[in-house]
Amino acid sequence: MTQIYAPNWEDIDPDDWASWPCRYFRPYEVCDRRTGKVKTTAEFLAWMDALREDFGQPIYINSWYRSPASNKAVSDTGEDGAHTTGEALDIRASLTDAFRIVEIAMKSGCKRIGLKQHGSIDQRFVHLDFDRSKPLPRFWTYS
Ligand SMILES: [Zn+2]
Repeated sequence: MTQIYAPNWEDIDPDDWASWPCRYFRPYEVCDRRTGKVKTTAEFLAWMDALREDFGQPIYINSWYRSPASNKAVSDTGEDGAHTTGEALDIRASLTDAFRIVEIAMKSGCKRIGLKQHGSIDQRFVHLDFDRSKPLPRFWTYS
């Protein structure tokens, strides 16, 4: 895997393909929203570009990378949740869009999928990850 890392999203030039091999998503969408730190892989960016291409419309990222401390603050998965790998994200999606994202993700090899599809529309999301240290295949829901 080719790691992509920066202490702050502003350190990455998103128009330089060598440092940011991604068409549809910008470093500020990938960064830890609390610290600005970016951590992901070229492979996961390429996978997300392909998913976005298949989906055919904009994708809104609720959360991508989270540092261990940031993850612990917002998730009961604590300091080693999937988001800390940089190969996990939450996509704001509901109804038909959520179904299509899950369908495309499964077709393209994602084996860990979480769903929150209750409550207000803007609180619903699809979690996708490739955390190889966790059990798979897995589906789960959020309360
Ligand atoms: Zn998530």
